[in-house]
Amino acid sequence: MQFPFYTDCSPQDFSSKNNEIFPSSLQRCPFKDCSMPVVLKKHGYYSRFFISKFFTGILYIRRYICPICGRTVSMLPMFCLQGFQYSGIDIINILHEFYLRGESLKKLIEKIKVDWPSIERRHINYYRKRILTNRQWIQYGLNLISPEFIFAGTIPENQKWVKTFLDQVHSLQPHVFLVDFSKITGKSFMTSQNIIA
Ligand SMILES: [Zn+2]
Repeated sequence: MQFPFYTDCSPQDFSSKNNEIFPSSLQRCPFKDCSMPVVLKKHGYYSRFFISKFFTGILYIRRYICPICGRTVSMLPMFCLQGFQYSGIDIINILHEFYLRGESLKKLIEKIKVDWPSIERRHINYYRKRILTNRQWIQYGLNLISPEFIFAGTIPENQKWVKTFLDQVHSLQPHVFLVDFSKITGKSFMTSQNIIA
């Protein structure tokens, strides 16, 4: 189980093991079938590769363990997107730019290669496809975040919906959306398990 958290630290700050920059342990096991009111114990770090506009490299993520059920939980800085190497904030900003400008994908890639040299068309297409596959799931989370987002759910055309969704996330601030979405639904908006609660 992974929980994104707000942080003022930069990705680079997480490139060495530093306990000071992680939130304090949970006071209760977050797994529903356990839910014991015990403080989760620190349980080392795991490393993950991270790519962003200003920093690319290994990040060390704190892990915690429930002393009762033995399952682990990790705390993800808000810019990390579970299952993706690219920064979640960057992904949202790049896609927003793409839908806002309405330029060709080729042009977009040429432009953003300066900041993300390893990015390819297939990345962007993969993100777009995942967002469309997750449309119902994302809209479900948006509705819970704020009633003002509910109208977007009625947009029939998929591409128009994606643009509206990205506009909404942009006005909300991408990091706020990433943390709130996970907090409310328990999963990332880009999760591959397309479970509708
Ligand atoms: Zn537990």
